[in-house]
Amino acid sequence: MPSVCRRYSLKAYNCPHWAAPLTKIPNSRICLAQKNTPIRPWLLPNVSEAFSVSVKRDDLTGCLLTGNKTRKLEFLLADAVEKNCKHVITTGGIQSNHCRTTAVAARELGLKPHLFLLSEDTPDTVSCHGNTLLDIMCGANIVLVNKSAKHNRDALLKNYADHISNETGESCYVIPVGGSNCVGLFGFVDFFEELLNQQVHENFDDIVLAIGSGGSTAGIAIANFLTGGKLKIHAVSVCNDNVYFHKHISSTLKSVGLRDVDSEDIVDIIDGHKGLGYAKSASHELEFIMQVCITTGIFLDPVYTAKAALGLVHELNHNPSRFKGNRILFIHTGGIFGIMDGRMEPHLRQSGRTENQVKLANEIV
Ligand SMILES: *Cc1c(COP(=O)(O)O)cnc(C)c1O
Repeated sequence: MPSVCRRYSLKAYNCPHWAAPLTKIPNSRICLAQKNTPIRPWLLPNVSEAFSVSVKRDDLTGCLLTGNKTRKLEFLLADAVEKNCKHVITTGGIQSNHCRTTAVAARELGLKPHLFLLSEDTPDTVSCHGNTLLDIMCGANIVLVNKSAKHNRDALLKNYADHISNETGESCYVIPVGGSNCVGLFGFVDFFEELLNQQVHENFDDIVLAIGSGGSTAGIAIANFLTGGKLKIHAVSVCNDNVYFHKHISSTLKSVGLRDVDSEDIVDIIDGHKGLGYAKSASHELEFIMQVCITTGIFLDPVYTAKAALGLVHELNHNPSRFKGNRILFIHTGGIFGIMDGRMEPHLRQSGRTENQVKLANEIV
């Protein structure tokens, strides 16, 4: 096992004592994220005074390494380095935050990134905005996969990884969608230890976050369970539904050796806030992103955090008994480059913002 990667050292991983019952505890990790991201009061619009909402700024785990995927990659890429892989391959939507984070982190570590991006585009029409801009700029090899091949993605990834190994004589590490497997999970076991050090037990009753591929929620829910279940964990689905996610989290529970607990006992999956569908934005969602920037200075992303925060506001107003208490901690899981993929511009023009906020100098004096 190589103890040092080209640029970053592998660190032995000592898991928190409460996580000791888990099986498959990784040996090592690599530090990628800025840790101890701040927790701040957050005056979300339209929340009744009966509740207080705070936000954990996990969008501040890094500039290009912003968001929750960085935490998972500390363990996934350590595993890749430990296995002496020189290439990494992963997959996601065309604007995937996970794929961008993987590509950037791989380059920091001297690994070569390959991305399978779901898209109906061709190389001539592919967008160079938002996350895709960054993917291309950091030299990732991109394979566009159309939606009809979506169900077949795992096999495609594996074949492509074999192809890379045959061509180059170097091993290729395969990371599943969203980095959500038993290795990436430990990024969120560790995240929870950070929350405990930030007095989350003393200060909060409920945690709310967006759920997409399930790994972040699984890690937080398992960690909360292992530390006495003092908080209630709520995950707002932005794709699929509660049946799908409970199944995913149940299988994660089994594979880390927790056989006596069900997903339904440890997490509340909140459906009904997907809007037009995964990664699609309705204009009221884009308007909400703007209202939150204007009133709080925090930028939500259109795919995950805006839908989750809208879901939170809706549930607080219409379903308050869903919450264990009135002190809510929302996890801002990142995604900023999603607002830079071109979708905001038509909204800004149609809502008259460019016209009303932007003036020529000779119009005002
Ligand atoms: C991937 C992602 C999520 C969802 O996390 P999962 O672990 O995939 O459920 C939430 N927010 C942002 C910004 C993401 O990129």
